[in-house]
Amino acid sequence: MADYKAPLRDMRFVLNEVFDVASLWAQLPELADTVDAETVEAILEEAGKVTSRTVAPLNRSADEEGCHWKDTVVTTPAGFPQAYQTYAEGGWVGVGGDPTYGGMGMPKAVSAQVEEMVNSSSLAFGLYPMLTAGACLSINAHASEELKQVYLPNMYAGIWAGSMCLTEAHAGTDLGIIRTKAEPQADGSYKVSGTKIFITGGEHDLTENIIHLVLAKLPDAPAGPKGISLFLVPKFMVNVDGSLGERNAVSCGSIEHKMGIQASATCVMNFDGAVGYIVGEANKGLAAMFTMMNYERLGVGIQGLASAERSYQSAVDYARDRLQSRSPTGPKAKDKVADPIIVHPDVRRMLLTMKAFNEGGRAFSTYVAMQLDTAKFSEEPVTRKRAEDLVALLTPVAKAFLTDLGLETTVLGQQVFGGHGYIREWGQEQLVRDVRITQIYEGTNGIQALDLLGRKVIGSGGAFYRLFADEIRHFITTAQPTLAEFTQPLSAALDNLDDLTAWLLDRAKNDPNEIGAASLEYLHVFGYTAYAYMWALMAKAALGKEAQEDFYVSKLGTARFYFARLLPRIHSLTASVKAGSESLFLLEADQF
Ligand SMILES: Cc1cc2nc3c(=O)[nH]c(=O)nc-3n(C[C@H](O)[C@H](O)[C@H](O)COP(=O)(O)OP(=O)(O)OC[C@H]3O[C@@H](n4cnc5c(N)ncnc54)[C@H](O)[C@@H]3O)c2cc1C
Repeated sequence: MADYKAPLRDMRFVLNEVFDVASLWAQLPELADTVDAETVEAILEEAGKVTSRTVAPLNRSADEEGCHWKDTVVTTPAGFPQAYQTYAEGGWVGVGGDPTYGGMGMPKAVSAQVEEMVNSSSLAFGLYPMLTAGACLSINAHASEELKQVYLPNMYAGIWAGSMCLTEAHAGTDLGIIRTKAEPQADGSYKVSGTKIFITGGEHDLTENIIHLVLAKLPDAPAGPKGISLFLVPKFMVNVDGSLGERNAVSCGSIEHKMGIQASATCVMNFDGAVGYIVGEANKGLAAMFTMMNYERLGVGIQGLASAERSYQSAVDYARDRLQSRSPTGPKAKDKVADPIIVHPDVRRMLLTMKAFNEGGRAFSTYVAMQLDTAKFSEEPVTRKRAEDLVALLTPVAKAFLTDLGLETTVLGQQVFGGHGYIREWGQEQLVRDVRITQIYEGTNGIQALDLLGRKVIGSGGAFYRLFADEIRHFITTAQPTLAEFTQPLSAALDNLDDLTAWLLDRAKNDPNEIGAASLEYLHVFGYTAYAYMWALMAKAALGKEAQEDFYVSKLGTARFYFARLLPRIHSLTASVKAGSESLFLLEADQF
């Protein structure tokens, strides 16, 4: 596989030229004090180095070797512990963490770029810091001050890792039916008992302690999602002086053998009366988890983008080198036996689709990250509320659309390699296998689509949708006429999404199946329209600068490709939605 090169030029373009993040941060007092352009530049440069030089070279060997389990002990592939130590020592685990407890305090718009880089370099590696950062978010938002002081500094420093223990064998999507129990003890702690499955980083050799966040039920808990509480369960108990004490009664029963992310330990975790501490209020555990959900879900979307970016980089290099057949318009490399495959229209279609999705995805994930930053740091209640509503609306789109396109894109990258894409040596098949999980975990994409249409669009009576649609409409009506080639198709796509949303708001009143029948295609129509907005914003930032740098020529060419060749997908998706739910129920279960 070609080396990974962090796409810093495009990240700078998105942050500075498309969104002018500095002016957003200037309006958010807490960020105005901690973030400046120089720091951000240094972070991007250094993250680019550590991910491309230290982590990326391990990606293939780690996939070949996988994780090992023996008598409850899990070891990660050769090179992972050292690479993790280097990564942690750079402060990267706590890049978005609260500075009060030793985090770097960077806004999500910046840490999102770091997440993309680490996940491009190795998705399996990136999961360990990601789970830790996610656990820290919940602890910081909901745990007692005492727990925060004991656990957060070592977690941000990467000395201890985190895990999220939600899933049980019989309870994945429907967490309301979990069976893990937590018995209150006289000293205020709890004894946690039960078995969790599929726990990423539940056990490993990267850190000296692992801090599990576990969903469990108190003895008198009401049934369903309103009876779930959240507990912090350390692998090793922590003494009063901060040193590590006895081993807690939690152990790894086995690890899964799976399709991809072989170097990420996916563990069965047994809690046998393990000591735990409640995080947040009793029976409000799901709400406490949801604090980190928006961040994690955006992070999973970014994993889709990250795999797709790595696939694209390899595919472009390959397409420039691989000689097969002649161009339909006559030989281009006359001194060679054949032309490089990049001359062929179908190869160009694949490469441009990949590029358009990746750059659109980078802009969109950064846009959502900026809403998260505004929601967290704005002191203006109206501004904060608007950003919170946009985060609620756009998070399921970011998670599901970026990961669905992540699979499509990595498959295209594999296809560019022909037969060589199917064999392991070139690394393209690994990216396809690795990215597949992003459509499944952290809430399947089907569930994201239900969340978007059912809870966010219809649940808000269309109000959240209007916020986003009005912003796009304002952009269109105030854009310079020179942008018309982009704003006109954007306007038509927005009209289509407006109509479809109104149609669904109406239909959902009468047919309870309508939302579930329409949701995935609706999410995709939404995603393509949101990317059209991103591409119009990027075209605006690039137009007129073509003579300065080829980067802008490439950007505008890709924008034109997106509007001409990819945005029209909304029409077939819209037709599917409007076909309604009837045809889904023509067969009885035993007629399938
Ligand atoms: C490699 C890996 C790592 C993971 N890491 C973690 C982790 O760190 N921590 C953790 O707690 N879990 C983890 N998981 C679990 C993961 O989050 C779940 O697998 C996922 O949420 C789906 O749950 P399930 O597998 O039980 O599928 P199910 O819930 O059984 O769903 C099966 C299918 O039915 C659909 N479905 C279910 N309910 C509905 C509905 N109401 N409407 C429409 N469709 C529905 C789903 O979309 C899906 O297609 C991991 C899983 C894997 C494979």
